[in-house]
Amino acid sequence: MVEKNYDVAVCGGGVAGVAAALAAARRGMKTVLIEKTILPGGLATSGLVLVYLPLCNARGTQMIYGIAEELLIASNKYGPLTPDPDWQKKGRRYMVNFSPGSMVLVMDELLEAAGVEVWLDTVITGCKVENNRLKEISVFNKSGTVQVSAETFVDATGDADLLYLAGEPCNYSENSMVLWTIEHNEHVKSGNDLDSWSHVAIHADPLANPYTYEHLSGKMVTDFVLEGRRRYRKLLQKEAAEGISDRRSHYPLTLQTQAPIRKGRCIQGCFTMETGMESRSFEDSVGSIGDWRGKKVWQIPYRSLLPCNLRGVIAAGRCISAIGDAWEATRVIPVAAMTGEVAGIAAAMSVKQGQTPHDLAYPELAAELRKQGFLLEYPE
Ligand SMILES: Cc1cc2nc3c(=O)[nH]c(=O)nc-3n(C[C@H](O)[C@H](O)[C@H](O)COP(=O)(O)OP(=O)(O)OC[C@H]3O[C@@H](n4cnc5c(N)ncnc54)[C@H](O)[C@@H]3O)c2cc1C
Repeated sequence: MVEKNYDVAVCGGGVAGVAAALAAARRGMKTVLIEKTILPGGLATSGLVLVYLPLCNARGTQMIYGIAEELLIASNKYGPLTPDPDWQKKGRRYMVNFSPGSMVLVMDELLEAAGVEVWLDTVITGCKVENNRLKEISVFNKSGTVQVSAETFVDATGDADLLYLAGEPCNYSENSMVLWTIEHNEHVKSGNDLDSWSHVAIHADPLANPYTYEHLSGKMVTDFVLEGRRRYRKLLQKEAAEGISDRRSHYPLTLQTQAPIRKGRCIQGCFTMETGMESRSFEDSVGSIGDWRGKKVWQIPYRSLLPCNLRGVIAAGRCISAIGDAWEATRVIPVAAMTGEVAGIAAAMSVKQGQTPHDLAYPELAAELRKQGFLLEYPE
């Protein structure tokens, strides 16, 4: 970890950060990816989320391409499932479940092949702004505090930690209690792909028993996580007391190592996507998506990735500027990968042109995105 000056510094190695780093490095940028855990993938891996939601709309048309599709196909390279090539003929959606471990191995491999310098176990703790431009971040790891400078930064921290630290205004949401575990459960009757993983099940806390936290804070995250695990203990104790299962037939194999926060904090961007904006067209569209919940379709405007004040930085993933229903549609794995790729491409183009992502000429970005197969307009 001697090199501290980069073209592009991607902050946060979730799906969005991985996609951003791949896109930037594949365009010749000296790229660093900084991640506070030791696993790439964020919620998709450390959060055990393991359901790669659809790349298509609910009418059988693929809408998301590029690195999002590359990751969907690669996610099961080290086993055990395969995306169904006949999803269209069977009237299904283009999605797949994956082993979080398999996904980590694949992401490591792709990042290495692209030449991304990965800093694991490294947390971003601060930043230096000059003339309203982000110049440098402070990170902490086993070497102590290190300053990292870059021409362009990508905030892919999931909860906009970087831009929050830089003093940018943010939006917040409430979060319902949820706990996903991967467990051995001989009593599970699974109707999905997980059948093929003998006795492996996802446990998700029933939504019928809601527990809501508002506004992100250090205490909220701790309380949220501890309450989830408290509930899981109670469930196992209850099942044992009722003779439904015992400690040999139903037990946890692994627990989440990232807080399961769906919508914590996102930036207030140059444009904010909101409830009711589905089917709307934007002159600066960077891609169209099918809503994972059903038939709605959305376009993502480039301005929703740009913080409203600070220059030299672009957001990606679940912390782009989207609230309400739009946040719900854009926060999921395929869309996080897609906005990550857009951010990585925009960062690389800005560096090459000596500009910030805010100053990038949209027609040039659009041309590059089309080259990658992005659908900027809605399909017929
Ligand atoms: C319970 C739950 C269930 C879900 N179910 C599904 C589902 O079935 N299918 C689906 O597609 N999506 C689902 N999602 C949503 C989806 O998993 C995430 O929204 C998506 O993976 C977000 O990716 P991201 O890269 O934007 O953010 P994250 O995955 O949050 O990644 C952010 C990364 O940044 C790192 N980071 C944060 N702060 C710092 C810092 N200061 N310094 C260094 N690194 C930092 C984190 O460690 C993390 O790796 C679910 C989410 C939750 C919580």
